[in-house]
Amino acid sequence: MKGTFQIATMFGIPVKIHWSFFLLPAWAVGSSVYNGMSWTSAGWFFVYILTLFLCVLLHEFGHILMARRFGVGTQDVILTPIGGMARLHRMPEKPKNEFAVSIAGPLVNVGIAALLSPSLLYFPMQDLLALEDVNLIFDGPQFFIRILIIANLVLVGFNLIPAFPLDGGRMLRAGLSFKLGRRRGTRIAAIIGKILAVGMLVAGYYLASPSFVLIGVFVFVMATIEYKAIATEDVLKNTPVSEVINYDFTKVYDTTPMSEVLRQYSMGAAKDFVVITAEHLPLGMLSQKEIEQALHADDLEALAGEYFLPLPGYLQKEMTLHQAEALIKRARKTLLPVLSNGVVIGCLSRKSITHYMHFKRRMMTWRKITNRQ
Ligand SMILES: [Zn+2]
Repeated sequence: MKGTFQIATMFGIPVKIHWSFFLLPAWAVGSSVYNGMSWTSAGWFFVYILTLFLCVLLHEFGHILMARRFGVGTQDVILTPIGGMARLHRMPEKPKNEFAVSIAGPLVNVGIAALLSPSLLYFPMQDLLALEDVNLIFDGPQFFIRILIIANLVLVGFNLIPAFPLDGGRMLRAGLSFKLGRRRGTRIAAIIGKILAVGMLVAGYYLASPSFVLIGVFVFVMATIEYKAIATEDVLKNTPVSEVINYDFTKVYDTTPMSEVLRQYSMGAAKDFVVITAEHLPLGMLSQKEIEQALHADDLEALAGEYFLPLPGYLQKEMTLHQAEALIKRARKTLLPVLSNGVVIGCLSRKSITHYMHFKRRMMTWRKITNRQ
């Protein structure tokens, strides 16, 4: 994400901060002082905001460490003024595991609140509610801890709202998926999320609260995105590579001289060449980089067999597009050769998968329209 920088590494995961993160404490403390808060209280207020963000960070690590138990890694955690965001590589697909990963975050905040609660014996909550002067709330750690307990419980409540992308939305989807399958589960969870979003918008209007309106719009958009992503995944999982395979790919033999590869490359025949043996067994690929290498070294008499780059993996005709996409991504390639019985029969590129999905989506919309008539 642009505008972020790393501040720490926790459990091997980079913790990053978006520059706008600092706007919130600066604004909160600044405006409080402007409105008459003492500098001492402002100091405590500042510490309170930072502690609150630490609670948010621990919440995210609840998700991260639970996901790790199911073999799912995390790219990084980003802190923004509106909260934390753990970027998991994926969501576990088993409903039980998704439920566990989603609930782990709020459970961390329940844990923090529980750990702090013994302090209530010495500093009863009523004292806090009876306070009238805002200066006194942050007049020392005793009130500060109580606010922190409340804040953690508010975090739990907010995150349990059953709407994407909040934890509650994922828990609802996981629960529905048990019985209905992931696609229908997501669809119903998305509809419930949208109804809630409209409710927030209406409430925001009547309460004249811009934050309600903002969250409402956000939740509405996210529900749509989440359902689309799952529907796409569903198609990818049910389409074999053989349906999208490109048989018209550019192959060269290992005995082909690089001058010939360059000739075809310069004509725009292809950007990537599959290098095969005379028996059509795959060896690897030649891309722009290798071709230019041969050109710069003035080594065009060399054979393709000397310049090709071995591939970390190949696609099989029977694989699903979902598996194929993951393999191409992992190999950091734009395309990979497709094998059938060990022989190269074609190629599949990320671009053609995207194209196919685009086409599928248009087909689905078109079918919906014609069915209605
Ligand atoms: Zn969460």
